[in-house]
Amino acid sequence: MAEHFYYSIASGSSGNCGLYVSDGTAVLIDVGVSLRKLTAALAAFDMKPGELDALIITHEHIDHVKGLAMFLKKTEVPVFASRGTAAALTAKEPAFEGRLTAFESGDAFRVGETTVRSFATPHDAADSVGYILENGRRRFGFATDLGFVPQSAAALLRGCETVVLESNHDPHMLQAGPYPYALKQRVAGPNGHLSNPDCAVFAAFLADNGTRKLVLAHLSEKNNMPALALQQTKNALRGREGCTVCVAPRDCMESPVVLGEEGAACLVSG
Ligand SMILES: [Zn+2]
Ligand SMILES: [Zn+2]
Repeated sequence: MAEHFYYSIASGSSGNCGLYVSDGTAVLIDVGVSLRKLTAALAAFDMKPGELDALIITHEHIDHVKGLAMFLKKTEVPVFASRGTAAALTAKEPAFEGRLTAFESGDAFRVGETTVRSFATPHDAADSVGYILENGRRRFGFATDLGFVPQSAAALLRGCETVVLESNHDPHMLQAGPYPYALKQRVAGPNGHLSNPDCAVFAAFLADNGTRKLVLAHLSEKNNMPALALQQTKNALRGREGCTVCVAPRDCMESPVVLGEEGAACLVSG
């Protein structure tokens, strides 16, 4: 098993959860799955939830924290959330009081061998963030649930060799789809979710600035198709060598994405 990898356990509006492992440091990003599902996914890596070094949360929406109550009940793993996210979570569930380590959005902190840097994301949540995880020369970026990519986030994601980036919806499918008007406006708005074309434009910027691997994430079930998201970003990367793209499926990835290894296989689904 590779020492450095990212493995998506769930991605999309029904649940989000990803595992980052580097130099023996294991960080879970969001826990939008049941503890049972998390336990089963980690077993493939001979790991148990209690052995994780940290859980870092992007924001309080249910698809990112569905399994948090049980996770806190069954493990002693430190859980990090931005100040606003921690407050929103505790307001809803008083039992979380004292169990979350709050940080200021934009702050960095250390988990084992990894430096975790947060950045604000434009989203309809209290204090949502994305993350950069850095270990030596390896830089890994995570950005989902954002209406657009702000300059400040672009500056941090630039140069990350692996980036998990939201490719939420196809604008035409969204407009023609089943969502009520207000929800369509919210999803497409500046505090909603990143569309396939916006993802593709930013992907090209990343590829021009050193990104070697892209994982498209948080695809809408109703307003997107994996093949469509993949094609849009691949088209934008045409003519650029050396950047692979794959889609994080709704359920567990078939195999992890190896970090910091040229030409490593990347699952292409859809
Ligand atoms: Zn959200
Ligand atoms: Zn979400």
